[in-house]
Amino acid sequence: MITVLVFGDQLHRAMTAMATAHPSTHRVLMVEAHDKITSRRWHVQRLFLYLSAMRHFAQELRLEGFEVDYRSASSMRSGISAHREEHSPSEVIATEPNSYNARVLCASLNIATVRSNQFLCHPSDFSTFSAQRKSFKMEDFYRWQRSRLGYLMHEGKPVGGQWNFDHDNREPPPKNDHDRWPAPLLSDLDDIDTEVLAHLQHVGELHETAPKHWGLAPDGLWATTRAGAVERLNFFVENVLAMFGPHEDAMLSDNWHLAHSLLSPYLNIGLLLPHEVVDAVQKAFDAGRIPINSAEGFIRQIIGWREYVWNMYWLFMPAYRDMNELGVDRSLPPLFREGGKTQMRCMKVTLDAIHDYSWAHHIQRLMVLGNFALLTGITPREFTNWMWDSFIDAAEWVMVPNVVGMSLYADGGRMATKPYISGGAYIDKMSDYCKGCFYDRKKRVGDDACPFTTLYWDFLLRHDEKFVKNPRVSRQVYAARKLNDGAEIQKRARDVLLMLDDGQL
Ligand code: FAD
Ligand code: SF4
Repeated sequence: MITVLVFGDQLHRAMTAMATAHPSTHRVLMVEAHDKITSRRWHVQRLFLYLSAMRHFAQELRLEGFEVDYRSASSMRSGISAHREEHSPSEVIATEPNSYNARVLCASLNIATVRSNQFLCHPSDFSTFSAQRKSFKMEDFYRWQRSRLGYLMHEGKPVGGQWNFDHDNREPPPKNDHDRWPAPLLSDLDDIDTEVLAHLQHVGELHETAPKHWGLAPDGLWATTRAGAVERLNFFVENVLAMFGPHEDAMLSDNWHLAHSLLSPYLNIGLLLPHEVVDAVQKAFDAGRIPINSAEGFIRQIIGWREYVWNMYWLFMPAYRDMNELGVDRSLPPLFREGGKTQMRCMKVTLDAIHDYSWAHHIQRLMVLGNFALLTGITPREFTNWMWDSFIDAAEWVMVPNVVGMSLYADGGRMATKPYISGGAYIDKMSDYCKGCFYDRKKRVGDDACPFTTLYWDFLLRHDEKFVKNPRVSRQVYAARKLNDGAEIQKRARDVLLMLDDGQL
């Protein structure tokens, strides 16, 4: 018998190595690795999703007639070795793993890997795109993907006459009617879910010295089965997608999800494949149910951003995860673990949402959390690790380019051509957070000066030499140099950073 090793983020029957497997010729191996489970202070919803989705997938394969060796082992390596000793498979195969370390593991254990179909652009396809260019801009990649995959295309041209409808999107939040976005689906917890919850309790007791998980307990928000993920995809396409475009970048304190799809965890663990998601969107658009700005905006996220990030990871690993272009060295401040206590309303709302749902949307990740980490100089490694522990959809391939690259400019501009920084003005424009905040978004000095505003100017002054020649930020650098209260700003920035490190911000 051949053994198919299925990693916890490859839970799809059509994933390459499983696609041609048959119960008469193939056995399946899945490993719950204790070193991984206890290695971090995971958000409980995230750990729960992984374990429950794995166990559900194993059950589905058993119902189909497969023998599934579902192992609990001290590590992935020991689980695979024990399986080999017990079952003597003729061969162990796997779909190419998504992380660099898992590929190294497969190579070291002589596990043959087959080309993955979990993404729409394999790195070998990406090289066709990159070979023709000096720089790999996401917008060029996206157009290349659209043309070759044929989404929203007609006779070789983009439907609607343009590639990008962003000028119809990115609106600030609406002033009222915050309930316009349908509430996400909830499922009842089933027997496997309940068993996993009990197991997590047990793990917590067994590993008293290991970091404890945290966050609100799972309540059925995140589906743990393929059927639940498909149900959520259909719900999104039918009820929410039409509203996706306009307020894509808006942030509200009384609505945590707006018109976001909440599909990233399923895509990232294999409960959904990207073509299934994009095909459903294309179908709804063809039937006239979705306006072009929402359909295009959403398809760009999946076939553009997601695939681009995936390829950036493989292009620059393994060096990528350790990059620190700005040479920053601040440890993760207590605020990130005690979000509820901060007086910064934008951070509090975002951190509270992460506590409750293990999720925040893109602009909260980039322009609140990431912006704050960049302005305060938190080390890329510590900030990535915190995000890894906290988010329902986290994985190294997606964190490293988004956090180290896009958000912290730690890759020296490989992902983003400018540092994504802003003061309180941008957050105020795109959210309702600043009203009622203790701090004043317009002030850059004084005890109630908005920390974002102070630190934004301080960042430009601190890094002026580095960015003065960057055409996308030079104007701001010159503006900072002209300020007549530069010394006061820098003093206030030092005070803010001291308060931050002391947990007083
Ligand atoms: P929607 O807003 O509905 O977007 C649709 C889909 O597009 C997402 O499900 C996702 O699959 C894809 N997508 C859009 N932008 C990106 C992107 N930049 N990278 C990858 N996929 C993208 N995404 C993750 O999946 N896991 C992460 O750990 C993660 N960490 C991030 C950290 C930072 C600092 C930033 C700036 C972004 C991060 N993202 C991450 C990207 C993005 O924020 C999330 O994919 C998105 O918020 C997930 O919610 P959603 O499914 O409702 O997305
Ligand atoms: Fe955030 Fe500043 Fe606005 Fe307060 S004033 S919510 S700290 S941006």
